[in-house]
Amino acid sequence: MSNEQYSFFHNVERSFDKAAEFTKWDKGLLEQIKACNSVYRMRFPVKMDDGRIEVIEAYRVQHSQHKSPCKGGIRFSEAVDQDEVMALASLMTYKCAIVNVPFGGAKGGIKINPRNYSTYELEKITRRYTSELVKKNFIGPGIDVPAPDYGTGEREMAWIVDTYASLKPGEIDAAGCVTGKPVSQGGVRGRKEATGLGVFYGVREVCNMADRMKKLGLTPGVEGKRVVVQGLGNVGYHSAKFFREHGSIVIAIAEYEGAIFNLNGLNEEAVFQHRKSTGSILNFPGATNIVKSTDALELECDILIPAALENVINGNNADRIKAKIIGEAANGPLTPEADAILNKKGTLIVPDMYLNAGGVTVSYFEWLKNLSHVRYGRLEKRFTENMNSHILTQMESLTGKTVSDAERKFIMHGAEEVDLVHSGLEETMITATQEIIEIWDKNPEIPDMRTAAYVCAINKVAISYNELGIFP
Ligand code: NAD
Repeated sequence: MSNEQYSFFHNVERSFDKAAEFTKWDKGLLEQIKACNSVYRMRFPVKMDDGRIEVIEAYRVQHSQHKSPCKGGIRFSEAVDQDEVMALASLMTYKCAIVNVPFGGAKGGIKINPRNYSTYELEKITRRYTSELVKKNFIGPGIDVPAPDYGTGEREMAWIVDTYASLKPGEIDAAGCVTGKPVSQGGVRGRKEATGLGVFYGVREVCNMADRMKKLGLTPGVEGKRVVVQGLGNVGYHSAKFFREHGSIVIAIAEYEGAIFNLNGLNEEAVFQHRKSTGSILNFPGATNIVKSTDALELECDILIPAALENVINGNNADRIKAKIIGEAANGPLTPEADAILNKKGTLIVPDMYLNAGGVTVSYFEWLKNLSHVRYGRLEKRFTENMNSHILTQMESLTGKTVSDAERKFIMHGAEEVDLVHSGLEETMITATQEIIEIWDKNPEIPDMRTAAYVCAINKVAISYNELGIFP
């Protein structure tokens, strides 16, 4: 298909329409939910280090304001165009709705390859982009809150918050204008591992559903399940870590230079260190090399976690995938063709739309922290520890027994910020998984979990519009 014919946004609309058939909402309301409310396309000049002036093309799309503020990352990529930003903004609306994060969807993009620019040039581009957003009222803790995406990270978010705050002197909640900031600039602890941990919580919840596992010929629980992970980046590394820590066996890890396999299990940290020191994942002690990386996707396993790129499972390899469960950690790892083949085979595909929502969920916690101006746990940590200590002392004196030092330390522990963030994420992913599965269980006509997730999102956004009284 040529680029002219292909529209990512229309693809999202098609998935939406397929799911909308399983809802009872008015056609006009569905049209409103689908539409991108505001599209801001901008061009601005930036003087480069060599004195040249370059005109930068950038976007910010606010898909929905059914909840305020809007939220979504900013990507720096040469592939950025209006269609892509609109599609990603609409997916953000649905993602936030499913995980009960009270934001509308948005997305931003700057059409550059960040590797072609110096740090100083990138800073100028980011700061200018932010002031353009401020000028048009497209950013603010109550309006639209960006976050990192491809090609951006903590550094860019720190530039954004600094630019915003300097243009809005005295705005007490300025730190909440963007998330994914360094902790020293108002970021929250637990953000780095959030997406991988969310992937684990979501897949674990599915695995805990005995009837679903029975259909797949599996026993409940993640313990002992064989897992294959593609991509040892942020999301893949942390997914592998949490599966391993909870008793799963990570039998293979794939990177772009090849894959490694060990039926007894791989330790992601050891593999990461090996790759760092040798420059390749291959030749890891005790593991077998798989020279063609994508062959790892076709291994006999229970859970496959694609956590690298889009379209890695497609019409060419889908019928050879043996995993019973695919947890879509990456965005769009399956093509629609692969989706159809695997659904027909009975593979359970846990959809990206909500499974990789750990990042935005923890971003929501960061925004709440910024608005409350206090670190999570600061008020209650000591109180909890003192109370736990008191209870323990009472129990010991009543029973005449003492607990070990290790147990004492564990029981007394008052929650730190990171404990509360993980706990909030766990609750979010469990609830979202249960809500989607409940919708699917109630309507057996719904063909797959992805469609059930869309139905879940549509229902929530529609209810919200109705509550606003726009559609009496
Ligand atoms: P990352 O850049 O940290 O990691 C990606 C990894 O995949 C890298 O180690 C890279 O070497 C590897 N890779 C590249 N090509 C490969 C190939 N052909 N085969 C195997 N491995 C390959 O990125 P990330 O943040 O971990 O994101 C991974 C995916 O998860 C992306 O699709 C991203 O959109 C999605 N995602 C990320 C987050 C987040 O919070 N980081 C949130 C939601 C979704």
